[in-house]
Parts: sequence; C-alpha cells; structure tokens
Amino acid sequence: MTPAAAYVTAAMTLRTLKALEREGLLTPDPRLAAAAQSMAIALTPEMLALIDRADPARDPIARQFVPNAAETEVSPDELADPIGDEARSPVKGIVHRYPDRVLLKPLHVCPVYCRFCFRREKVGPGGEALSATELEAALAYIRARPEIWEVILTGGDPLMLAPRRLAELLAALDAIPHLAVIRIHSRVPIVDPGRVTDELLAALTPRRATLWFGVHCNHPRELGAPTRAALARLADAGIPLMGQTVLLAGINDDVETLDQLMRALVTARVKPYYLHHPDLVRGTGHFRVPVERGRALMKALRGRLSGLAQPTYVLDVPGGHGKVPIGPAYLGDDPDVLLIEDAFGERHRYPR
Ligand code: SF4
Repeated sequence: MTPAAAYVTAAMTLRTLKALEREGLLTPDPRLAAAAQSMAIALTPEMLALIDRADPARDPIARQFVPNAAETEVSPDELADPIGDEARSPVKGIVHRYPDRVLLKPLHVCPVYCRFCFRREKVGPGGEALSATELEAALAYIRARPEIWEVILTGGDPLMLAPRRLAELLAALDAIPHLAVIRIHSRVPIVDPGRVTDELLAALTPRRATLWFGVHCNHPRELGAPTRAALARLADAGIPLMGQTVLLAGINDDVETLDQLMRALVTARVKPYYLHHPDLVRGTGHFRVPVERGRALMKALRGRLSGLAQPTYVLDVPGGHGKVPIGPAYLGDDPDVLLIEDAFGERHRYPR
C-alpha cells in the first residue's frame, strides 16, 4: 500500500487561514501567516460546532486549534524536540525510553492540529506513514527484544490509518508473543467521533494482547453527545479507556473546568490517567502554566474529586528522560515524624 492510501482525512475539516477567517474565528494580525506556516491547520466540523462564535479568541475549543500570533514568539528555553524523541529513537518510528515499552509512530497525520502539540514540528500532512520497509524494521526491532512488554501506538494519530491498514498493523503486533499490551493514543473519538465505525471496532478487537485506549481530551465541552457515543462504543467493545489531558493556560487551568472534565471523563467510562504539564514546545509560551499553579490545582482537585477521577500530574523531562509525577507532595519534611497533609490542608503526625 502506498503512503498516500494509508490514511483518510475528513473533507469538511477547515485547513486554511482563509477558511477560519470565513468562520469569523481569527483575530487579525500580520503574524498569523507565519504562525500558520509553523504548523498545519485542521479543525474538524465537530470541534467547529462547539466554538462560541461570540468570543472565539477566548473560547477554550478555538484556542486549541486556531493559529495565534503568539506562536511566532519563541523563548530560548523552548525546543524543537521538547521531550527528546530523537535522542531515544533507535529505528525510524520507534522511541525506546524504558526497558519494557516502546512508542511506535506509524504516521504523523492527525484529525486536528493542536497548536500546543509536543510534536508540533513533526505532525502535519507532510508527516506521512512509515513506508512498508520502515514499518517492518520497526516491527523487527520489537520482535528482537523479549523485554518489550508494551507497545504504545502514537504519532500523529494512529486512528488516521485506514481501518484495514490499522488491522494489519495490530495483527502484526499481536503476533509478537512477548507483547502483552498494545496501547493506542488518539484524539479521534473526541474530535472526529464519526470515525469510530463498525469497521474500526472490528480492526481493534479481538486481540490476544490486551488493548488499552488513551483518549486526549482537554475541556468538558469536548465531551458532547457524538463523542460520548463514540467512547461508549469503544467501552462496550470491551476496550479499557484512559484519559490524557494537557494543562493549558486559558483553556483548563482552573479548578472548576478540571473538576467538570475529570467527572465527565469518568462518567464516559474513561479513567483520568495523566494531567500533562505543558512541554517546552517552540512558540507555545501563551499556553504554559507555572508548575506551582498546576500543583495548586491538583491539590484543590484532591479535596473535591473521587480518587477515580484523579489524574497524575506529570512533567516530561526534556532530553528524553521520561515522565515524572510532580506533585503536589503531602509529606512534610521532619526527621522524627511524618507530617502528612490531608486533602483539606490540615497537617497530621504519623510515626515513621
Ligand atoms: S492530535 Fe496529538 S499528535 Fe496530533 S496535533 Fe494534537 S496533540 Fe499533536
């Protein structure tokens, strides 16, 4: 199969500044052309329908996908490869950071292009699928390493592969006996739920290896009826779902929004997994939130949300060193006794 036939895109997706302008979504600025050139544009009809046209500049859906002049401002701390994928890539398409698991990136195409994306310099319509030879080399890398227990399909968005192509890839992975878990990370059920078709479900199930599905979702408004229906179809097919959220200034960096989002995910049968601290991506300073603010938000959530709805707040260490939880901490520093802070801020003594 040629790369051009490997994935399918939605025809009605808005892909140009002109199209966004026609919809009244742009704030005029001469720097917009440069911002649009720095990353592809894609806004699906489902996401467009959720935008408040009265104030798109402050709308939490529009801000994620509509280019902003601030993207042309790059600070010295920002990086082209903020989480160090390249440093940990032994074979094209593979990232191997931890002994027992690898990322496999079959393509760099997405249904939407999120302006804060940690791979914003890789994703886009030019980010075609791995060639057949490259994919075979990536699979051979996994086959040759019995210590690899889990493979995480990411990209780009693996669900942009045509279902038949995705089924072939999953079958090849399923045939590797030491792989116990195949995980898919996708934004599709949220931003383009119509792609969760019978054909796609047939491609995903059944598997020898356990399939997990990670859904990227940043705002409670993203969980409208079509998305909830798509998530229900995946859950009804027996696929465990977990949620990934990026903490983003002006989008979800307040306790009310995060509370609603985590509750909405749990009721859609998606277990909140990670709240990602925004990475040092070039041109995304306007999305970044101080770590202390993220920790304060997590503390506030601890006091008001069920444990089922708590994500882990993580930061990806630049250079390819992986994710670490960054708090908040509930243990005080005392040599004689543990000082434990409860969810409401009260300190308690506990023997060491
Ligand atoms: S869907 Fe994921 S990989 Fe694609 S642009 Fe958004 S964050 Fe990046």
